Amino acid sequence: MPVEKLSEDIYLIDTLALGFREFMASYLVMGGEKNALIDLGYASSFPVLVESLGEIGLKPDDVDYLIITHLHLDHSGAASLYVKSSENSVVYCHPKAVRHLVNPSRLIESAGEVYGEYVKLFGDVGPVPREKIIEAEDGGRIRLGDLTLRVIYAPGHAPHQIVVYVEEAEALITGDAVSVQQPSSPFKIPATPPPSYNHQEAIETLRKLSRLRPRSILRPHFGEVRDTGNFFEDEVKVLETWRRIVGEAMMSERDHEETVRKAINNYVEAMKIDLSRSPLLTPLVLRISFQGMKKYLEEHQG
Ligand SMILES: [Zn+2]
Repeated sequence: MPVEKLSEDIYLIDTLALGFREFMASYLVMGGEKNALIDLGYASSFPVLVESLGEIGLKPDDVDYLIITHLHLDHSGAASLYVKSSENSVVYCHPKAVRHLVNPSRLIESAGEVYGEYVKLFGDVGPVPREKIIEAEDGGRIRLGDLTLRVIYAPGHAPHQIVVYVEEAEALITGDAVSVQQPSSPFKIPATPPPSYNHQEAIETLRKLSRLRPRSILRPHFGEVRDTGNFFEDEVKVLETWRRIVGEAMMSERDHEETVRKAINNYVEAMKIDLSRSPLLTPLVLRISFQGMKKYLEEHQG
């Protein structure tokens, strides 16, 4: 199973989302007394998650905290299955996420609107009992023994997003506050999906996170960044470039399909992306990010 030990107490688990490598990572932090998993993957990846924990020597019950950075089903989808297979584990999430975990019908509907028939591949998403959920506070700490996790609110990609800072390790687990970039490809793809991407908040979140000066950045999509020097500046550039290009395409084209194509082509050109060397999912991710950015721009004109 695809487990990578990043340090003495932090592991990356590739959940093999929808059968793809390097698309969705879950991070395991072992603090000596307590353990936490940050992001769980799709419901359909749950067996991979359990097997991977087994490889590290853990049962589902050995993970005390299941921290969900935000509701999107690649991050939260497995929560219900996980809680069913573990007496001990509790879920941590943003207060705005709680009711959608307890009753996921709106969440499933919203994923259906964005992903259409692909949603079938995400697996069965069930409810998480309310008594298994703890609301995360901004700046709140979760003590694991030798390690401490600090939860930080990180709106933008979604209003219900949190990130997790492992204080002693100076490692930041970012959720989707940062772009998508697979280790096998140098190209950064913006993560600005509907229904609630907010550009201004996303930029503010990046600036806030850059002030932490993390030594290590751990991204769900995907993997660790150790050379963190210009990381956040680059991320701001990705979002600002994308915003400008989507805005320009919306001004110059009338037809929806033409507008999408123009925006994607112009982004690929501006960032010098070689599509033949980038992951298969790149055009799909850009298409979804287009919808989110377009919606934001339409709702925030002038
Ligand atoms: Zn997301």
